[in-house]
Amino acid sequence: MPTKQIVWFKRDLRTQDSAPLASALTQGPTLALYIIEPELWQQVTASQRHWQLVRHGLDQLIRELALLGAELCIKIGAAEQVFSELRHSLGIFHLHAHEETGDAWSYDRDKRISTWCNAHGVAFHEQRNFGVFRGLRERDGWARRWRQHMSAPIDELPEQRQWLTSKSTAQWQSWQPCLSGNAIEIDANLIPQQRLNQFLEQNGERYHLEMSSPNTAPAACSRLSTLLATGRLSMRQVVQQTWATQAQIKSHAPERRGTWPKALAAFQSRLHWHCHFIQKFESEPEIEFHNMARSCDGLREHDFDQQRFDAWCKGETGFPFVDACMRYLNHTGWINFRMRAMLVSFASYDLWLHWRQPAIHLARLFADYEPGIHYSQVQMQSGTTGINTLRIYNPIKQSMDQDPDGVFIRKWVPELAGLLGPMIHTPWQATELEQLAAGCVIGRHYPEPIVDHAEASRWARSRFATVRASTAGKTDRQKIVTKHGSRKGMQKQ
Ligand SMILES: Cc1cc2nc3c(=O)[nH]c(=O)nc-3n(C[C@H](O)[C@H](O)[C@H](O)COP(=O)(O)OP(=O)(O)OC[C@H]3O[C@@H](n4cnc5c(N)ncnc54)[C@H](O)[C@@H]3O)c2cc1C
Repeated sequence: MPTKQIVWFKRDLRTQDSAPLASALTQGPTLALYIIEPELWQQVTASQRHWQLVRHGLDQLIRELALLGAELCIKIGAAEQVFSELRHSLGIFHLHAHEETGDAWSYDRDKRISTWCNAHGVAFHEQRNFGVFRGLRERDGWARRWRQHMSAPIDELPEQRQWLTSKSTAQWQSWQPCLSGNAIEIDANLIPQQRLNQFLEQNGERYHLEMSSPNTAPAACSRLSTLLATGRLSMRQVVQQTWATQAQIKSHAPERRGTWPKALAAFQSRLHWHCHFIQKFESEPEIEFHNMARSCDGLREHDFDQQRFDAWCKGETGFPFVDACMRYLNHTGWINFRMRAMLVSFASYDLWLHWRQPAIHLARLFADYEPGIHYSQVQMQSGTTGINTLRIYNPIKQSMDQDPDGVFIRKWVPELAGLLGPMIHTPWQATELEQLAAGCVIGRHYPEPIVDHAEASRWARSRFATVRASTAGKTDRQKIVTKHGSRKGMQKQ
């Protein structure tokens, strides 16, 4: 009698290129399992939009499995409790899952499950999901290993498949976590593979040219991040299809290639960065809580100004472009890279807020919240990685560069819509008469700028210069480059 197998789906809601599913099915009759863990939904970063996406992903997974002749078993409870019950009802089984580079809660949960498996005679097989390597101490050789992982064949399911069933918890369909935040619009008909094809065959040609402005980025970027974060699409599939498209374009005569070669090269780098950033978090999960460069400890921790933070969260800082970006993000659950970086830069340098509370707020708003990218990026954009050049975004320059006509601002900060021409970028410079004519008096209908950008950034720069020049700053730098640094030049968008 072959041993029973359980595939535990977590943030990998797909049947294609699923190593756990493929290997379970080759070993014996398999139960496809998802556990709704109430404790996960009580974490500070959880939000309504994340639940919406998981719920939608589960519906899609149920459909995919049905086409393969299987049922998804959905249980509610703590993972140990669910596995104990299954051990009781099914007898001995092998457990299969993807490795997850999650936050501290999910990391501890996985360690507890591993201990439970050892104690109960259950073999637990965890397989790599992304190009991220567990137990890696240093970065040398990482790029080669990434390429090897991405070049490996897609995991195909065996022809012969035997499935197990177990009753789902009766009320799973109506279960709702109690979560903050507004719902977002999601495309219920979205098919991950189609989104990828559409980007690689149609929308992507101007990717590198239009990714930076919030006016053009929504159509020019791939918008694959949510599919990757919920695991509905495999990163290896995306990378292999991108390589194949690059080869195909290369075979065309130069005049037929258009701007595709540059667009796809830029896109390919981002796919690499995805795993590069998650690897930092995998190698040092403490960066969810601590500065990566410990020489930065104490720089901002004791100065947290709640009022400034609240104004930033609400999109009421008095800087129109910053506020428009925050309100847009709140409404849609997505914004492009440059604007994410600007929001963190503004919180970190202009408002001098320690990155942890802004990181949590953004994690709740990002539909594509991926802890590994998120904490690594937030720390990089707030200067606490110790190795990256300080990038202090000037919110007025960004506004003029990325939204020269103020179209985006007028849409998302409608109280400013009546201001004419370039005044939209700096409404506090409009005369009293101009403000009255626009129906927007600064200080009454829209706030005064919360800080003086030039002064705040000068002060922030000098604080960081002192830390970086210190002995502790220099020692940090060496250690961090060895552990996390890219072996190639990184990153500008
Ligand atoms: C402060 C901050 C926080 C971020 N938090 C997240 C997060 O929680 N989840 C997340 O997926 N991305 C995060 N990013 C990275 C990036 O902004 C998003 O991946 C991207 O905007 C998603 O849109 P897209 O899928 O259209 O990306 P595209 O530009 O089409 O890129 C394709 C894929 O490459 C990866 N990628 C792109 N840019 C980056 C980058 N700079 N670093 C790492 N990977 C990248 C993503 O997986 C993305 O889906 C963050 C960036 C910043 C500055």
